Amino acid sequence: MTLLLNGFELAQRCRAELAERIKTLSRAPKLAVILIGDNPASAIYVRNKENAATEVGITSEAYRFESIYQKDLLSLIEKLNADDGVDGILVQLPLPEKLNEKEILQAIDPAKDVDGFHPLNLGKLMIGEPAPVACTPKGCLKLIHLAKPDLTGLHAVVIGRSVIVGKPMAQLLLRENCTVTTAHSKTKNLPELCRSADIVVVAIGKPKTVKADWLKDGAIVIDVGINRLENGKLCGDVDFDVCFDKCAAITPVPKGVGPMTIAMLLENTVEAAEKKLKN
Ligand code: NDP
Repeated sequence: MTLLLNGFELAQRCRAELAERIKTLSRAPKLAVILIGDNPASAIYVRNKENAATEVGITSEAYRFESIYQKDLLSLIEKLNADDGVDGILVQLPLPEKLNEKEILQAIDPAKDVDGFHPLNLGKLMIGEPAPVACTPKGCLKLIHLAKPDLTGLHAVVIGRSVIVGKPMAQLLLRENCTVTTAHSKTKNLPELCRSADIVVVAIGKPKTVKADWLKDGAIVIDVGINRLENGKLCGDVDFDVCFDKCAAITPVPKGVGPMTIAMLLENTVEAAEKKLKN
């Protein structure tokens, strides 16, 4: 029997737990969200994040700009860094091309980097020190743990090597004592490589790429991809219908990784507030 890893339900449970944790704090955690440009998908993501934050008891403060100069955005981040009442700062990506994304992300105080994209936090993940972890891989790991709490010795193949998903995912699985292989667009014999995996995490942005004959019987499959088909429907990077029976556990798209990404953003914000209010 295949276990459907329902990220929507797990995210609801995480959010309920966070709401309880927030009640024990001396003030509500505060998340500052910055959105620049007119990307409709980004506008929806930001609205969803704000609504989710409000629902658990996080105060969210949105800064929306049609366009902004690099120096003005850096000044805003500096102001938010210095504001003791702000626990988390999120800059919605992608940024318009004329802005220097790297410089913007590096300007965020690492303690308020609730997306976990700051190089210092990525480095801490690499050396195994506590730090905010990128939301999507963090959520993927919680989904994997639904299927199997102890991952020791398992072979995990992560397909995709982006800084926001693939690379931190590989580090998290390594921390769980998996043997990890990271694959990418230049990897040879990818189907064969996947067939040796107990866990497959796919984050490539190519619809229905992973087929049933890529998988070992009983694999745990996490599909990060979000692709819109011509008929308007969403699908993942895994061909869900043909792969389902082959897996011990698999995430659907939608209602898989997506809701967990938002839940982990809230968790990172609560953790940042807890840390600050304890000090
Ligand atoms: P990127 O485009 O930054 O990275 C894609 C990676 O996939 C690259 O490493 C690329 O390799 C690799 N790749 C592309 N095509 C293939 C292929 N045919 N075979 C093997 N590897 C391939 O994407 P992201 O990591 O940002 O996102 C990946 C997907 O996940 C997207 O669909 C995105 O929308 C989704 N996503 C979903 C989230 C959620 O919350 N559910 C959050 C973030 C992303 P190379 O490095 O060689 O180019």
